[in-house]
Amino acid sequence: MTISINAAFDSGNIVVDSIDGTRARLSIRRDRESDFFQWFHFRVACAVGDELELAIAGLGDSAYPDGWPGYAACASYDRENWFRLDTGYDAGTLTINHSAEGQLLWIAYFAPYSMERHHDLIASVAECDGVSYRCLGTSLEGQPIDCLEMGTGPVQVWLYARQHPGESMAEWWMEGALEKLTDPEDPVSRVLLTECTFRIVPNMNPDGSRRGHLRTNAVGVNLNREWHAPSAEKSPEVLCVRNAMDGTGVDFAMDVHGDEAIPANFLAGFEGIPSYGEEQGRLFKLFSDTLERLSPDFQTRQGYEIPKPGEANMSMSTTQLAERYGCVSMTLEMPFKDNFDLPDPIYGWSPERSKHLARACLDALHAILPELKSASTEKARELEGAKG
Ligand code: ZN
Repeated sequence: MTISINAAFDSGNIVVDSIDGTRARLSIRRDRESDFFQWFHFRVACAVGDELELAIAGLGDSAYPDGWPGYAACASYDRENWFRLDTGYDAGTLTINHSAEGQLLWIAYFAPYSMERHHDLIASVAECDGVSYRCLGTSLEGQPIDCLEMGTGPVQVWLYARQHPGESMAEWWMEGALEKLTDPEDPVSRVLLTECTFRIVPNMNPDGSRRGHLRTNAVGVNLNREWHAPSAEKSPEVLCVRNAMDGTGVDFAMDVHGDEAIPANFLAGFEGIPSYGEEQGRLFKLFSDTLERLSPDFQTRQGYEIPKPGEANMSMSTTQLAERYGCVSMTLEMPFKDNFDLPDPIYGWSPERSKHLARACLDALHAILPELKSASTEKARELEGAKG
């Protein structure tokens, strides 16, 4: 019997170049109006016992060729439990070998987080006591930019994810954060909700998510290069969120991402912004060190190169927010591969581990809260002084 392959569904992406029995030659479609490609998500219809050999070719031109060595593809039979497959990479071709244990196998770059699941998440959290739903605007294709507000405290916290839609671990992280914050028994969340007001945008890029993009919105724009000058024409998703932030002010912000190449969890900060402040920098480091103590899945040895003073890229959200509000702002990167310090050969980095890391991030926020509070009081006092 010959296998068949299909990706015509929410966040699907694959091009079938040829099929020969249980072997297929495939490639990845580029993001619309863009050269980026790396995300794949497709379904294989086969027979139990089929020896599948799926080769995804042309990856030398993908967005992050360094993402493929040491990477294993994700798969599921029930679309709930996602495990890793036997995967090799050589000369631009990723080859997946698997002996089929069912008739339908889903395969993806990482466990997908569909727009349907996104709506389930928004609906269930909006039902919780003390949560206000706010639609901040719409995407280019008319999808809502959903924001969940909770808490009554003076510290303004913004959490947002999936500017890069292929980084689905970012929305799994959001699911973990929202579950914790809406757990009425959780002591950390009870304190956080008294001391802080949270605005949470679990998906900044619904169009890219539904289209199966790696990195851009419906017109090929990388949203995390728009924060200095978002526009209604190219990046309404950023414009509406940044306007809402201008309305509330920001004391603490986290932008959640995935990294293709580095097999570790790490943070990137805002070194190199024009107005870089010692206290702002100290609080960022305090959060990072605290998170490292709280979670064995987080580390500070590997990460991005730190920009020199004055050389920050101000089009990115983390740097733009740190400059604009004088806040503690950061980009969290989770691996597509695994945390090689604490590897899991069956699941690799996974939805569950992303959710655990979200809980640890909230624990770290709680741990630094006294210092964050005194910094934000100081900032408010300075603003008040400037007005007078
Ligand atoms: Zn990203």
